[in-house]
Amino acid sequence: MMKKIGIVYGGKSAEHEVSLMTAKAVIAALDFSTYQVTPIYITLDGEWVCGEKLTAPVEEAEALRFTGTDQPNSIAQFVELASNPETRFDLVFPVLHGPNGEDGTIQGLFEMMNLPYVGNGVLASSAGMDKVVMKQLFTQAGLKQVPYEYCLHSYYNAHKEEFLDACEQNLTYPLFVKPANLGSSVGISKAKTREELEAAIQFAFEYDRKIVVEQGITAREVELSVLGNDEPKVSIAGGVLPTKDFYDYSAKYVDGTTNYAIPAEITEQELSDLQQASIDAFKILDCSGLVRADFFLTTDGDVYINEVNTLPGFTPISMYPKLWIASGKTYAELVEELIQLGLERFEEKK
Ligand code: ATP
Ligand code: MG
Ligand code: MG
Ligand code: MG
Repeated sequence: MMKKIGIVYGGKSAEHEVSLMTAKAVIAALDFSTYQVTPIYITLDGEWVCGEKLTAPVEEAEALRFTGTDQPNSIAQFVELASNPETRFDLVFPVLHGPNGEDGTIQGLFEMMNLPYVGNGVLASSAGMDKVVMKQLFTQAGLKQVPYEYCLHSYYNAHKEEFLDACEQNLTYPLFVKPANLGSSVGISKAKTREELEAAIQFAFEYDRKIVVEQGITAREVELSVLGNDEPKVSIAGGVLPTKDFYDYSAKYVDGTTNYAIPAEITEQELSDLQQASIDAFKILDCSGLVRADFFLTTDGDVYINEVNTLPGFTPISMYPKLWIASGKTYAELVEELIQLGLERFEEKK
């Protein structure tokens, strides 16, 4: 029996473009003799587009940008499709990044509809999306992190100078300012002076009502992939070697200035510390399916966790799959394993 899989991609998020790249790769990796694949595109305006035209194998990312209107385009159509026993999906694969994709909201929709899905559940997704909540949980797990301050837009408007003073008193320049809920480095900037800090905060508030100001750390960046449900496996470490100021959006996806070291050149002790911290992070957030854990590693071998990503970039050249590919899995095997983990998690909940 062919299994029906819905691939949900695009999304009303600053990471829309990244999702298109991932969706193209995931769809291409699926075995069309086993799976009947329905791509479901969420436009930048948040409209859901799915229809017969989209069930053909997708060759080009551009083809994913289907905007045809032969069927009503709405979330209601998805709900109808997924509720009808004839067309119901056996599993949905949210290939979305950022708010409304990676943050538990769409996972909540799938839960309400009793649909099995790939990846993290509601709690892990939302806790992992909010950098402040995530940091607070990491502190509880005893994971080392850089010092930080955070605030809401309403507070900042009323107490701007106080907040800037707190940042300058408690943290040392350079500082990194980030929207609390985003990814792909969107909205992040580095500040070396109070003026730059103000501008960086203003910029981050364009993306979120909550921002984080972190102390900059001089360290190597390493990332690890975690795969599994209750007994997760962890990969080797990969090194990110930006050749510019930091690993910003352009360095990630556009200008090709970043070098990667797989495996990262680290000691056995460092690897084992990083692997333990990755598993601890996965467990404290109650993750399932997959997580990419991002760290800073100092020259003294100290491990600082930066964040986890509950739906990391997932094209064949992205770090998450590359770390498993380096251990002998193929990209297609990884996609299949994630599907099975999603189905198993659903069975266990019953
Ligand atoms: P993604 O989800 O794509 O990994 P993100 O938007 O969640 O990215 P971060 O990973 O938190 O953002 O930060 C992006 C990059 O900014 C890091 O990879 C690193 O290069 C730099 N950076 C962030 N925080 C710090 C810090 N405290 N010190 C030094 N560099 C930092
Ligand atoms: Mg992130
Ligand atoms: Mg991310
Ligand atoms: Mg990161």
